[in-house]
Amino acid sequence: MSDVHPERRSTEPDCAEVVLRLFEYVDNEAGPEDRERIEQHLDACGSCLREYERDLLLKSLVRRACGPERAPHQLRMQILTRITSVTVVRSDVTQDGS
Ligand SMILES: [Zn+2]
Repeated sequence: MSDVHPERRSTEPDCAEVVLRLFEYVDNEAGPEDRERIEQHLDACGSCLREYERDLLLKSLVRRACGPERAPHQLRMQILTRITSVTVVRSDVTQDGS
């Protein structure tokens, strides 16, 4: 019993991988092959595209808060955690709506 599909994985990254790599992508730290795979996935996957847009927004917020210097890793993780929990709360409320 395995959920891993090695052949598919090489051409088509799954959402978890894309989301994990979005920071690298947004920071232009991903390699050319990774960038291409992420771009293709973003093109096809609306939810990851929204994650990407949120990361872009997050990056601009962090940059504004911290000036030209790179945000400390800890601050990034704090903001990311907050955004993630906000998303969870919002989907919870939506389910409760009916
Ligand atoms: Zn996706």
